[in-house]
Amino acid sequence: MKEGFVVIAYIAASILFILSLSGLSHQETARRGNLYGILGMVIALAATALQMNKDSYSILLAALVPGAAIGAIVALKVQMTAMPQLVAILHSFVGLAAVLVGFATYETGQGSSQVGQIVQLFEIYVGACIGSITFTGSVVAFGKLQGILTGKPLLIPARHFINLLMLVATIVLGAWFLHTPAPEGHKILLIATILTGILGIHLVMAIGGADMPVVVSMLNSYSGWAAAAAGFMLSNDLLIITGALVGSSGAILSYIMCRGMNRSFISVILGGFGTESGTVAVESASGEVNAINVEKAAEIILNSRRIIIVPGYGMAVAQAQYSLAEMVTMLKSQGIDVRFAIHPVAGRLPGHMNVLLAEANIPYDIVFEMEEINEQFKDTDTVLVIGANDIVNPGALEDPNSPIAGMPVLRVWEARNVIVMKRSMASGYAGVENPLFFKENTMMLFGDAKKVVDDILFQIRAAV
Ligand code: NDP
Repeated sequence: MKEGFVVIAYIAASILFILSLSGLSHQETARRGNLYGILGMVIALAATALQMNKDSYSILLAALVPGAAIGAIVALKVQMTAMPQLVAILHSFVGLAAVLVGFATYETGQGSSQVGQIVQLFEIYVGACIGSITFTGSVVAFGKLQGILTGKPLLIPARHFINLLMLVATIVLGAWFLHTPAPEGHKILLIATILTGILGIHLVMAIGGADMPVVVSMLNSYSGWAAAAAGFMLSNDLLIITGALVGSSGAILSYIMCRGMNRSFISVILGGFGTESGTVAVESASGEVNAINVEKAAEIILNSRRIIIVPGYGMAVAQAQYSLAEMVTMLKSQGIDVRFAIHPVAGRLPGHMNVLLAEANIPYDIVFEMEEINEQFKDTDTVLVIGANDIVNPGALEDPNSPIAGMPVLRVWEARNVIVMKRSMASGYAGVENPLFFKENTMMLFGDAKKVVDDILFQIRAAV
């Protein structure tokens, strides 16, 4: 009776997780997707607790209550811009859990038949190794994103060869492990865990700051496979399904990010791209820039019939979305057509801009993806680029030698006027200069995005 109930609960939780993922893929359904995920997790936890021996409930509560409290506090406090490092550290916990489950399963004995034993030893080995790479790799990614470790790629000589050597050694140790009984097997498992841990550190240390979000997504995928391996060890079907969902969705997300930046997944993993902090002062840029003030910007905006707003990382840093929402309402009331153009890698996470705009209650029907809106710039009077840089860099299309050559970008320069709001001439995350700032129809409006939008709003209010 109890088993039957648990099976039904697990099936229900799996369906809710799938519905959650599909809900999260669209802005309109994202909130519902989140609710499905929460409900699925509550059902999964309750069903798992039901399966447990009642004597273990005190241990479960001792872990669950402080864990949930810490999680809730951290999630409430975290800034959107710090989300990548939070995700990275959470992945490290999944990796560590897979390692611990591997060792615990090894201690508590293996399957009865010889084939069963080999299969379980294989699961233990794979789970512990993937878990160990995920754990150390995620800790390094967290350190880089948090600024504790340098964002510069660590490029030691023959690093690809060293990685290959560690990979081969892990496979050889694995074959040995499958045929070695405890206690020697225990030592082999420990050596392999340490080795793959070093591999995780080395792999992520070699990757530059600019590629770190892709790495976080890749580690997300690894953490899913580590959880699936733990599911096999614990014979827990729900953990296998959930792990596979996380593993595959993380891999798809990494692919989407790479496509958005026109980088191959392999070149990201092999590392070496990116600067210390992403943003560098651009001194080599040539030509004159046309700097305007807030009054002039407000005048151009009010004389436009069609406006497209392109938000980027700077809008997130400045938290300018609320002022922007007010400005949009104001402009619409004046009969001006206002739309938003969202690049797939604007900000620091896919969907970063969509979340911020939704937070400020900007209607979904005026928010467009790059493919939907790129053709419309040429029929637009004014484009407002707010704290964006790399995603509007014409060099990606016009300069084959640019480090971001081939990256699809928003063709804002095709509009009649472009107003770029940022604090200085500094580069974006990729560390490359932007010829957009020197184009004839581009005007630079220097300042913090929120302050500048507030000032424009003030001017517009006074004028209408
Ligand atoms: P960028 O990093 O290219 O540019 C952001 C700009 O915002 C900077 O040039 C900065 O200029 C400006 N800025 C910073 N703070 C403020 C502020 N308070 N007010 C006004 N402006 C500010 O961001 P984009 O969104 O254009 O592009 C995203 C980048 O991140 C791309 O290079 C992308 O490849 C990369 N990336 C994104 C991922 C994703 O999934 N979204 C994943 C991996 C990488 P200044 O200092 O002069 O103000």
